[in-house]
Amino acid sequence: MTPLIVNDQIEPWGRVFRVSQRISTPCFLADARAALLDCGQSVLPIGAARSYGDVCINRDGTLLRTTTLDRLIEADWSAGIIRAEAGLTLDHLLQVIVPKGWFLPVTPGTKFVTLGGAVANDVHGKNHETAGTIGCFVRRIGLARSSGETLELSETSNAELFQATIGGLGLTGLILWVELALKQIGSSDIEVETLEIVDLDHFFRLAEGSGDWEHTVAWVDCLAKGRNLGRGLFMRGRHRPHGVLRIHRDSHLAVPLDAPSWLLTASTVRLFNSVYRYRPWAKGRRIVHYDPFFYPLDSLLGWNKLYGRRGFFQHQSVVPMQAAVGAMQRLLTLTGEYQQGSFLVVLKLFGKRKSPGLLSFPMAGATLALDLPNRGDSTRRLLQAMTDAAVDAGGRVYPAKDATMPAEAFRLGYPNWKTLETLRDPKVMSDFWRRVTQ
Ligand SMILES: Cc1cc2nc3c(=O)[nH]c(=O)nc-3n(C[C@H](O)[C@H](O)[C@H](O)COP(=O)(O)OP(=O)(O)OC[C@H]3O[C@@H](n4cnc5c(N)ncnc54)[C@H](O)[C@@H]3O)c2cc1C
Repeated sequence: MTPLIVNDQIEPWGRVFRVSQRISTPCFLADARAALLDCGQSVLPIGAARSYGDVCINRDGTLLRTTTLDRLIEADWSAGIIRAEAGLTLDHLLQVIVPKGWFLPVTPGTKFVTLGGAVANDVHGKNHETAGTIGCFVRRIGLARSSGETLELSETSNAELFQATIGGLGLTGLILWVELALKQIGSSDIEVETLEIVDLDHFFRLAEGSGDWEHTVAWVDCLAKGRNLGRGLFMRGRHRPHGVLRIHRDSHLAVPLDAPSWLLTASTVRLFNSVYRYRPWAKGRRIVHYDPFFYPLDSLLGWNKLYGRRGFFQHQSVVPMQAAVGAMQRLLTLTGEYQQGSFLVVLKLFGKRKSPGLLSFPMAGATLALDLPNRGDSTRRLLQAMTDAAVDAGGRVYPAKDATMPAEAFRLGYPNWKTLETLRDPKVMSDFWRRVTQ
């Protein structure tokens, strides 16, 4: 049965775009396949719309929302392999797998994304240096195309489409289900060490010397200047080998309203950064549950409203290792110069493990991610300058977080885009793809 198509508002996580468009929300895989055939000339499958910009918008067409396709299809608990519908969120998947001694092999900084969305952006986590992206753990994908075909994709079967679908931004068709290899754990607790970083060189020394720790990430005070540039906190963690297997609790704390614009000025960010950096109780070694370690922001539902009604942008770029020190200096200097930093600035190294994904974002090097409240033209100028700095250093910007990257920067950063275009399902389109390729 073809599901109803209704007009509804879609608002990706950054809230810069608010689009009223046709949305179909099928409940069963068969309905989803029918919807792909029936819902007009142009369609885009989406998950939970936790991407920041326009990769999950299709203004001129229909969105095929997959959040009600959320069943676990099968599981082999001895080998740690699950097959699940694409709309299952990592939140719900964790509730099933953790008590059985398994964990996500790779997880982004929020658990409220769907499996299909995670694969289509080939997400990375704090363990990229040791594990690579989620695409490295995808064994098979069920893909529906608007031609009416349903294909099974793997490294050996429809291999070209398999590679194009991992990190393929939803453009190769509708991911119906994903088969994923999990990571075995002996405990749901994480041993964490938090160290102070005095400057950028110190960050690189700590990150390169943390080989015994599976997960590493740094928070940086983006308004620090001169010899303090890059100061912040370095966090590293690893699952405890033994212990209890406890799932996370639901969050009940929510931001009720859009915050006023004065909440996030350079002065309030400076104040937050000082307090956050000096917290003595946060430093040293501790044992924490996986939830606050991997998903600290999920404890405050709707935290994106803290940026006010105009929303916010995120810049995330990666640059190759040989250019990393200079490029990170340049990017952090730019945020200081424009006085537009925020309290959420994350610095991390990516490792050498290559994803099968054709358009995967990570490369061996350093990545910086920061939120920028939307202040109109001045914020767009800063984003442009940061994109230029990353691309000049041989790097690229992450489509999942992007809302402004010019076509040229995309094409330089992702030379394989033309191959994806040839494999794209002719009926599938997104605002992002239109913006960077047409
Ligand atoms: C707080 C926060 C922290 C984050 N941290 C990280 C991080 O650490 N690392 C990281 O890599 N990302 C991170 N992200 C980004 C997020 O993980 C990705 O944007 C993810 O893809 C969102 O999944 P979604 O289900 O919301 O998909 P959507 O945003 O709805 O869609 C994302 C893309 O997937 C496609 N898609 C979705 N479902 C399907 C399907 N069934 N078939 C085909 N295509 C589909 C869409 O067309 C779109 O191109 C973070 C986001 C937030 C809000």
